[in-house]
Amino acid sequence: MTIRKIAHLGHPVLRQVARPVTREELATPEMQRFIDDLVETMRDANGAGLAAPQIYESVRICALEVKKNPRYPYKPDIPLTIAVNPVIESLTDERFDNYEGCLSVPNFRGVAPRSTQIRVRYWDRHGLEVDTVVKGLTAGTWQHECDHLDGKVFLDRVVDTSTLTTWAEFERYHMADFVERAKALVARYGS
Ligand code: ZN
Repeated sequence: MTIRKIAHLGHPVLRQVARPVTREELATPEMQRFIDDLVETMRDANGAGLAAPQIYESVRICALEVKKNPRYPYKPDIPLTIAVNPVIESLTDERFDNYEGCLSVPNFRGVAPRSTQIRVRYWDRHGLEVDTVVKGLTAGTWQHECDHLDGKVFLDRVVDTSTLTTWAEFERYHMADFVERAKALVARYGS
């Protein structure tokens, strides 16, 4: 396994619509190695998720995992998930204000409104179909990662640009309020 370089905002790969992966391609040792690298790179950088375009591969694959994450201490755990060709559908008009950060947008955070309940359909790394409902804070993480596959970053979703902040100022001025809101969401949805 290899820890890959992470593309930063401004690199065109982050703005491309990534292409779907075929089952044949997914089964190749090359693609399985690529998925291992995606996971390794996400873990090394303490990401809650990482999408393939963020490591310069414009394919529709993302990884998610939260295990007592030091970058996002308030996030509930998410078991390691590999999503191939994911499709998201919002199940409600309700949105919550998610204070997001991104490994491709170093040292910035901002509030992106996200759906509180989504249906996600994808293949796992072996091509098995998964169809599931995700709620709360974890739904926000899914929407953030899937946006990367369509060439979008969280900054595109920020409605109120006055919420943009460096990480240090987030911790100083915004974190306490957001953690309260995040805890209420987790209490309500269990995720
Ligand atoms: Zn991101």
